[in-house]
Amino acid sequence: MLLRFKMVEAALNHTAVEVEAPSTRPSDYFGVKVFGRNVMRKYLDKPTYDALLNTMDNGTPLSLELADSVAAGMRQWALDNGADHYTHWFQPLTGGTAEKHDSFSDPDGKGLVIESFSGKVLAQQEPDASSFPNGGIRNTFEARGYSAWDPTSPAFIVDTTLCIPTVFIAYTGEALDYKVPLLRSISAVDKAATEVCHYFDKNVNRVYTYLGWEQEYFLVDESLWAARPDLVLTGRTLMGHESAKNQQLEDHYFGAIPARVINFMKELEYESLKLGIPVKTRHNEAAPGQFELAPVYEEANLANDHNQLLMTIMDKIARRHRFRVLLHEKPFKGINGSGKHNNWSLGTDTGVNLFGPGKTPSENLQFITFLVNVIAAVHRHNGLLKAAIMSATNIHRLGSNEAPPAIISTFLGSQISSVLDKLERSTSDDAIRFDAKSVLKMSGISQIPSILLDNTDRNRTSPFAFTGNRFEFRAVGSSDNCAEAIITLCAATAEQLTEFKHEVDAKIERGMKKDKAIYESLKRMIRECKSIHFDGNGYSEEWKQEAARRGLDCETSAPLIFDRYLDDKSIKMFGDTGVYSRVEVEARTEVKWETYTKKIQIEARVLGDITMNNIIPVASKYESVLLDKAYKMKELGLNYESDIELIRDIQGHTSAIQRLVGEMIEARKVANRIEDQREKAIKYHDTVAIYLDQIRDHIDKMEEVIDDQLWPLPKYRELLFIR
Ligand code: ADP
Ligand code: MG
Repeated sequence: MLLRFKMVEAALNHTAVEVEAPSTRPSDYFGVKVFGRNVMRKYLDKPTYDALLNTMDNGTPLSLELADSVAAGMRQWALDNGADHYTHWFQPLTGGTAEKHDSFSDPDGKGLVIESFSGKVLAQQEPDASSFPNGGIRNTFEARGYSAWDPTSPAFIVDTTLCIPTVFIAYTGEALDYKVPLLRSISAVDKAATEVCHYFDKNVNRVYTYLGWEQEYFLVDESLWAARPDLVLTGRTLMGHESAKNQQLEDHYFGAIPARVINFMKELEYESLKLGIPVKTRHNEAAPGQFELAPVYEEANLANDHNQLLMTIMDKIARRHRFRVLLHEKPFKGINGSGKHNNWSLGTDTGVNLFGPGKTPSENLQFITFLVNVIAAVHRHNGLLKAAIMSATNIHRLGSNEAPPAIISTFLGSQISSVLDKLERSTSDDAIRFDAKSVLKMSGISQIPSILLDNTDRNRTSPFAFTGNRFEFRAVGSSDNCAEAIITLCAATAEQLTEFKHEVDAKIERGMKKDKAIYESLKRMIRECKSIHFDGNGYSEEWKQEAARRGLDCETSAPLIFDRYLDDKSIKMFGDTGVYSRVEVEARTEVKWETYTKKIQIEARVLGDITMNNIIPVASKYESVLLDKAYKMKELGLNYESDIELIRDIQGHTSAIQRLVGEMIEARKVANRIEDQREKAIKYHDTVAIYLDQIRDHIDKMEEVIDDQLWPLPKYRELLFIR
């Protein structure tokens, strides 16, 4: 039997895997695998516990002595919970997480082993930086890298390994991961936002960054997946004719979840909750085989660790259920791809959400101040924000009528838009009045809370939408590390808030009343950043033209989009906020180009292999069957024209494919000779990637006419529907 049919049969035999129903309520097992505050109190003595809390909450350095005590408590807890190894768990620029497990046991030199785990080992390790993407930092300096404990994200146990969240830096101090710049950007926005908050409330000491991600993914049966080398090696199907039925009936979104999938979700949620990931929502997504999982939002550093961890455990649990998880942004042509909406907000230690409209005019001015500053930041760095979410994989999703085009704009909704319009149009005399307590009164503004709170407009076509009390960055890709988007957002916002503060302070120094000074600056900003505001249909053709007229970044070539990282204004912004040094920006951009090239190179190789090894031979086989038939028909004096037509059709495709594959290989050879990573990526984009769709078109057309019994690869209609 044809391999494909064997796999389809195997898939049909995969039934729902029983999952152990948790015997207790989520509140009983939530976080049981986390070295959280409750556990710390039990396993650490009081001075150590207090010191560690101080480090976690206020960033106070921990002495090596105290680190030793923490390590001892952590080790005991880990051993009590069945762990026998530990690892520094970090997020290199590969996009995944990295871990190297060491045993807790050490020979004691007298023929016995002892369990050892010191504060030094907890705090720092030395992985080889040259084995991870580093953008050339290792060439100029040393290959050594350090991973160092991030006490603000708690350690946790996966299987029998204690995982310690760490940052990863070069010997010379440059960041080689996502966590370092994320922490820096969170601290930059904290500092800048806290100062601006002081215009409104002197009691604010700290501003937190919050992130709530929504993870979209596909599930595919493991047997069918294994019979598709393109899925196995690139994460997406490089060929495959559309299924007659896919998502056009809109019957999958929020539909009933199949038993096999529900069991997978249940186990995933159980494991997530034990690891302290506050998962909350699950549902079918728009495409068949597509689903979503979302937790409750958390402080951004922790939320991002949780997303990274989730992506890892998803994969493990899916295998148990004979599925594979596809996190690729566009695994199937013609149906929706997967994103990862990043819901982002800033909140004070006094419990105020800075993106939430308040109850009093002063709170509302604070809200409008933060809103307008974010819009101004996004306006100034729209090209860079696009670069932050761009990749060889996410580019497929953006602009294919399911996600916004590769243009960043902000959606504000009718209420906020009219408030900003009013603010902008009003002259200072008629709109601004101060009452006895010098509280600002603006017509229109005081109505915001009642109108807004029950009316959050939705516009799913916007890449960056204000949704009532947060911004939703929807352009982020499903496989992305959220940090990249959040780093850029926080850094750009920090820069903007700092500038705003300088400007307003200068006006106040010149004798202007504070509220009036704020109001005047906001008016100017609203006027200047108008072009970023777009509430219309982001999927439309007209928007692309309109955006170009407005001067927004409309570049669609990923390697050129990465250039935005190296713009003077980007380097300055990252430098001023302390998020990246120039060397770091350059190194990371280098990694982006290199990764882009490698991904296209792998896709081109895989497509070439499958085409020549699987598709062309099958086409030839079918052609010879048809030729044989035509001969016999001719002998019998029957009409064989239609058979000849079919043969011509197939022959046309196979010869075109062979020519195109040859050309693609030549194009690769030329591109591979280029040393410069940027030039090479551009060459790959312009001269290699273009063949992928051309070749695919011919294959997909042949799939329609060649005998189903011969077709070597599982088809879309088999891959997409989980039974
Ligand atoms: P959608 O309607 O877009 O599917 P949901 O209502 O399911 O979104 O929420 C999406 C995510 O937004 C969740 O993770 C939720 O916790 C998060 N979220 C809600 N409020 C905030 C906020 N103020 N800041 C950050 N994230 C938030
Ligand atoms: Mg959403």
